[in-house]
Amino acid sequence: MAALHNRISQKELKDRLYQENEARTTLSFYRYFPIKDPLQFRNQLFRSLCDLKVFGRIYVAHEGINAQISVPNSRFAGLKSYLESIPSLQGIRVNIAIDDDGKSFWVLKIKVRDKIVADGIDDPAFDMSWKGKYVDAEMFNRLTEDPQTIVVDMRNHYEYEVGHFENAIEIPSDTFREQLPMSAEMLQDKRDRNIIMYCTGGIRCEKASAYLLHQGFRNVFHLEGGIIHYANMVKEKGLENKFRGKNFVFDNRMGERVGEEVIARCHQCGKPCDTHVNCQNPGCHLLFIQCPECAALYESCCSEACREFIHLPTEQQKLLRKGVDKGRNVFNKSKRRLRPSLKQQMSSGKGGPSKVSPA
Ligand SMILES: [Zn+2]
Ligand SMILES: [Zn+2]
Repeated sequence: MAALHNRISQKELKDRLYQENEARTTLSFYRYFPIKDPLQFRNQLFRSLCDLKVFGRIYVAHEGINAQISVPNSRFAGLKSYLESIPSLQGIRVNIAIDDDGKSFWVLKIKVRDKIVADGIDDPAFDMSWKGKYVDAEMFNRLTEDPQTIVVDMRNHYEYEVGHFENAIEIPSDTFREQLPMSAEMLQDKRDRNIIMYCTGGIRCEKASAYLLHQGFRNVFHLEGGIIHYANMVKEKGLENKFRGKNFVFDNRMGERVGEEVIARCHQCGKPCDTHVNCQNPGCHLLFIQCPECAALYESCCSEACREFIHLPTEQQKLLRKGVDKGRNVFNKSKRRLRPSLKQQMSSGKGGPSKVSPA
């Protein structure tokens, strides 16, 4: 019987990946469905996917499966028919990553988790099988012709900032678990309207749609396959594109353009710009929007303080950084909109993102 975990060193595994002659395809899929015994499901999956030489990261929970994996091209068909052979995974949508060299994973890790998407819901009556209706790109466009329809963006602020659907409302929080109750509150007086939720790939808005139904909302929809699939469908079928700006994705490109226009502004000078960068100060690493001119001026830092910091001798930088907990360092304008005291602080200090922590 094959081992259920890897016992080879990371380095060895990485070397093996780079010695492989065959190209790999990177893909992702998820599905919500009840899994009685996640550990047993996990172990079976692990054996079969090892045989198919699959690498990647998969989460299995009582509520379903979420997978980001790569497979040698010659085994792609085998993988698809294997997935189809699992009754609960029949007809599953597989998203293939474009612009990917297939070297994103060098080991297979399948973890059993509490949830595939952390949601903070502890109500045992919450039922993921009672979820909103799927809408495809065509249906999405048709429903949004009606000005009464409400479109809700379930992603993070920095994603919304560079690109979103026309008239979409934002749920201003940094975490999905906070966004869920917040969305129900914000939509309180719109209970009887058509509500369409969306996210990048569909996994978050699918859960959010179930949450709203659970909260007594009625006409809840969610965009099938998320923005990624919508953008593909618009291209393929020549539909009208209602997405404005860039779709933020976490890879080297930091976003792929879906709409033509630039809807965001440089956080430092306010010029139209939608390029996300991480602050050059490794102790800060703030994710923010910066235009090329400001990048030159601030040497790719988020602030003068960070620019000064990177010119300190390395030893001194290390000393200053010691014991400082960075937390999650993302520029969030909407947070400030919600917290007036912070807003005041901001208006007193002109220009530059708020998060100025050089150490
Ligand atoms: Zn600028
Ligand atoms: Zn910085």
